[in-house]
Amino acid sequence: MIVISRIDLRGTQQDPRQALPRAETDVSAAVEHVRPLCEDVEHRGVDALIELTERFDGVRLTGIRVPGAALDKALADLDPAVRAALEESIDRARKVHRDQRRADHTTRVAPGGTVTEKWIPVDRVGLYVPGGRAVYPSSVVMNVVPAQEAGVRSLAVTSPPQKEFGGLPHPTVLAACALLGVEEVYSVGGAQAVAMFAHGAGECARADMVTGPGNLWVAAAKRHLKGTIGIDAEAGPTEIAILADSTADADYVAADLISQAEHDVVAASVLVTDDTDLADRVEERLAERVPATRHSDRVREALSGPQSGIVLVDDVEQGLAVVDAYAAEHLEIMTADAAATAARVRNAGAIFVGDFSPVSLGDYAAGSNHVLPTGGCACHSGGLSVQTFLRGVHIVDYGRDALADVAHHVVALAEAEDLPAHGEAVTARTGGHRPDAG
Ligand code: NAD
Repeated sequence: MIVISRIDLRGTQQDPRQALPRAETDVSAAVEHVRPLCEDVEHRGVDALIELTERFDGVRLTGIRVPGAALDKALADLDPAVRAALEESIDRARKVHRDQRRADHTTRVAPGGTVTEKWIPVDRVGLYVPGGRAVYPSSVVMNVVPAQEAGVRSLAVTSPPQKEFGGLPHPTVLAACALLGVEEVYSVGGAQAVAMFAHGAGECARADMVTGPGNLWVAAAKRHLKGTIGIDAEAGPTEIAILADSTADADYVAADLISQAEHDVVAASVLVTDDTDLADRVEERLAERVPATRHSDRVREALSGPQSGIVLVDDVEQGLAVVDAYAAEHLEIMTADAAATAARVRNAGAIFVGDFSPVSLGDYAAGSNHVLPTGGCACHSGGLSVQTFLRGVHIVDYGRDALADVAHHVVALAEAEDLPAHGEAVTARTGGHRPDAG
């Protein structure tokens, strides 16, 4: 028996945000837990990393850096079918991410006065690849490809050590690093890995930015250390929302709800539908599929958690309002005329259109990025992209006449802000009023 809650919003005008399922443990509560761990890494460096790794991963590290020989061996030993799949995933991701790069642009604001927007890559980034309950070589691809396409000079990957692999990250993660030419890899996971990049520790120089998905502790460490280090969006425990009407295939819907529940016991699977008959059929399909899937215990716990549920709405119109309010990491649209419905969505990390674009395709091989905002952050943030690793820097270049033309406006605004020295810095050049000239 699969218990998944039903939330009936039919005939109500209530703000869906209040009624929607969300995890009970949120990132802000988890920040209190990770704060002392991060401070420990800041003050004691590698010693703290070794102790925290023993405590949370059950592994006593002899060093934090993965030797180059281990990367080479992992690639040499990689199953050819997995290697071919990773190569395809890398090729598709490169195609999409190469197209994201924005060109520098110069605007001639006035005769003799230009502003150029130049996109400069971040110098050094730390890329987090999860590896607690599952291992994620696909997240190596999703982190590394956009960073490389952005032109980041120095990039390091970290992933939790695995007991059964001698305290190294999973060999497929190492092989993916080797395939992509990444040589600097650490076997550190969790909040302590984010702190390692934020403060530097031993061989690991501090990074300017850390990106990548992770569990609640990783997301909490990113929130806590934001400012000390740049971060991408908070990409925590995964979420899928599916907006479906009577035309949807209940078996596809059930399979996709399960596919994301498989990530984590706190993963969220939410179906929004105007068809109670579909809701019933999806529950039937869940009852058949869940016991048969390999991680059925984890899936059952995720589906029955407060973060998952079936939301009943009056029609697709109300459904759109609900999914916009929820702002899911992944949103599937399985309605009649799915592309038109998808085009109206405003808040989602990524949108998957119709019966043949499941989230699993995006997880591995659509070419899109799978590092996406969770916990409602999709209403203000997008997923990982080349742009994440670039800073737009304005280059201001005015000549004497161009400055003189606008000088009186600068002086007027400087006076209005009671910052007269700002105006004087302009009139010093254009021959206007000088404070010492009386
Ligand atoms: P993880 O690497 O994120 O976390 C494992 C680490 O957590 C361990 O190394 C350990 O050090 C630390 N840890 C474990 N228990 C702890 C505790 N009580 N206190 C402090 N630290 C602790 O791997 P995971 O656990 O498998 O989680 C991966 C997550 O990434 C899943 O929730 C999955 O849904 C999510 N994910 C999200 C996206 C996205 O784009 N949003 C993409 C892929 C995966």
